[in-house]
Amino acid sequence: MSQQLTIALSKGRILEETIPLLRAAGIEPAEDIKSSRKLIFDTNRDDVKLVVIRATDVPTYVAHGAADLGVSGKDVLLEYGGHGLYEPLDLKISQCRLMTAGRVGIPEPQGRLRVATKFVDIAKRYYADQGRQVDIIKLYGAMELAPILDLADRIVDIVDTGRTLKANGLEPLELITEVSARLVVCKASMKMKHALIKPIINGLEAAVTRSTQVAG
Ligand code: AMP
Repeated sequence: MSQQLTIALSKGRILEETIPLLRAAGIEPAEDIKSSRKLIFDTNRDDVKLVVIRATDVPTYVAHGAADLGVSGKDVLLEYGGHGLYEPLDLKISQCRLMTAGRVGIPEPQGRLRVATKFVDIAKRYYADQGRQVDIIKLYGAMELAPILDLADRIVDIVDTGRTLKANGLEPLELITEVSARLVVCKASMKMKHALIKPIINGLEAAVTRSTQVAG
């Protein structure tokens, strides 16, 4: 049987920006991915399928070889830890920043800082690198609420325009890292399916170069 490739895409904001890049690299979904409830999609290529899953699950599928390639935010990859994955290409889409934030005008408290976030490992590493003592509080969403209700002194969250923080009386404080979506490849697939994967990486790389030239 000829080799097949499965590409895992992150639902939501990243998906919308990934589809044009895939198309420019010659991979076109056979139906409208964004409006469908299906999880797995055929493409114009008999040897390529797409799966659409939660952003945080993409590295897991790819690292285990359940998908050969994936598109995932750098925030998600840093939190995952990167085992079993190559990260050959910055797709330069879904760009944002991972930042600390707190209530406007409230100075840092004495003693241990309470930090609410869904990026537990990233936050632990960031504050440990700075030698600061913190208690991390794991949340799954709406981190902005935590300082308002005094669950936490700080949050670690994604900031794009800053409007969400502002609307909740918060301000961005420290930049932890710039974030963009990355192409990830299963290490085992890269060996076993190199002839199939390499042209896709090259095609995406050319598409990224073209789109960044147009943009700027
Ligand atoms: P903003 O109000 O434009 O700063 O957007 C911030 C909110 O949108 C945050 O709560 C994020 O969870 C979400 N967000 C913005 N950009 C991204 C992105 N590139 N990837 C994931 N989430 C994002």
